[in-house]
Amino acid sequence: MSIMYSSTRNEQIRLTASQAILKGLADDGGLFVPDHIPSLDVSVEALAEMSYQETAYEVMKLFLSDFTEEELKDCIRKAYDSKFDTEEIAPLVQADGAYYLELFHGATIAFKDMALSILPHLLTTAAKKNQVKNEIVILTATSGDTGKAALAGFADVKGTKIIVFYPKNGVSPIQEKQMVTQKGENTFVVGINGNFDEAQTGVKQMFSDPELAKRLDEAGYQFSSANSINIGRLVPQIVYYVYAYAKLYANGVISKDETVNVVVPTGNFGNILAAFYAKNMGLPIGKLICASNENKVLFDFFRTGAYNKNREFILTSSPSMDILISSNLERLIYRIAGNDAQKNAAFMKALADSGQYEITDEMREQLLEFYGNYAGEQETAQEIRRLYENTGYVIDTHTAVASAVYRKYLKETQDTETKTIIASTASPFKFTRSVMNAIDAKYDSMTDFELADELSKIGNVAVPHAIEEIRSAEILHDTVCEVCEMQNTVKKILGIKE
Ligand SMILES: *Cc1c(COP(=O)(O)O)cnc(C)c1O
Repeated sequence: MSIMYSSTRNEQIRLTASQAILKGLADDGGLFVPDHIPSLDVSVEALAEMSYQETAYEVMKLFLSDFTEEELKDCIRKAYDSKFDTEEIAPLVQADGAYYLELFHGATIAFKDMALSILPHLLTTAAKKNQVKNEIVILTATSGDTGKAALAGFADVKGTKIIVFYPKNGVSPIQEKQMVTQKGENTFVVGINGNFDEAQTGVKQMFSDPELAKRLDEAGYQFSSANSINIGRLVPQIVYYVYAYAKLYANGVISKDETVNVVVPTGNFGNILAAFYAKNMGLPIGKLICASNENKVLFDFFRTGAYNKNREFILTSSPSMDILISSNLERLIYRIAGNDAQKNAAFMKALADSGQYEITDEMREQLLEFYGNYAGEQETAQEIRRLYENTGYVIDTHTAVASAVYRKYLKETQDTETKTIIASTASPFKFTRSVMNAIDAKYDSMTDFELADELSKIGNVAVPHAIEEIRSAEILHDTVCEVCEMQNTVKKILGIKE
């Protein structure tokens, strides 16, 4: 059955998957959602035999129903290749009773690679399918990891340009170095004097500005988004939950239809939403455990039903989760409002006007499959040290937030029987200083690259290629602007008059 996509704020807007991927965000500011969630049509026995690429096809064909088999398989083949440093693409590692799903074996050693290595191919295929003549301009706000993963994915992809905005003082030194050394004629990196939410809001405003769209079109350009709001990002993320479940079954860890829990370190709510979609496809997931850092808007939301972003923005050691507006939550709100675009639009208007909204009791009842909690900075560091000391396994700060929240969940619920997958979203080499400081304060005086070498020794893992690469790389991008200058910066890059 073919699937159409409508806006979370207006049911009248209906597009095919390829059109929704091209647009990224709906004209009314809403997010594209499938008109129904398809059911998995392969058995777990069959999935257990499949490679990551084969699993990706089985999942993605159901959502991207206007792509031909050949087109989709071509995209998958180009995405999940030797850019990943392991043939499994997303290996599972057992440590201390949980299963860490390592989503960081791609080009930029963070989980964004899982989707951003395929998005450029989905996008250029979608452009061909829809006879798009304009050059596609990818406009992205990043809290650190999306930026580099998008740059790596789109660099030198024909018919595209990519412009990335990041908070100048809100990403790790390694994240920044990764971005500002990006090669590729079509890549542009801009630091802003503001935080991630301001960057994201600025980008969203440009997307929903009809005057700007007109100016772009005249110049032969059109925007598209690589942010996690694009369904071309969301759909590939469903794959690894299905893959991980099938691997647990194949390895005899779980029996057929056995329920597993999933823990996801959450920022923009994209990764955990993908797990929710996987569950709705029929994958036996029990609790969806949403882990936040000290920016615990989502924890408060799951506890009280009130979403309130009016609070201090805290910079933490898990910067990719330093977010006060979790964009993808809108898809869940739409869903629990009974797929009612009008109701959802009212909540989103309240969020835009006053920074808060409160859902109804009826809506809250549908959130029982979610469990939210958070880990503070000390708890996160302690979890890194505890796991390392007990097992020798080293995790990054984001994964540690999830791992610490899982411990809290166990304490609170005694649900020790259910096998649990923890999404491991970044390599510890990406956040080396925080990770090594958590393990032992004596590392404080070392340089970042010395720390990477030391981590390699104590964790018994090779320094990833992505880190080796930037040791000596040249800085190619140094543009910095104020939040209010974002639009003019884009115009300048594209050669459009102000
Ligand atoms: C982006 C990111 C997250 C948060 O994922 P969302 O899909 O935005 O919730 C967590 N950890 C890392 C390392 C990330 O890069």
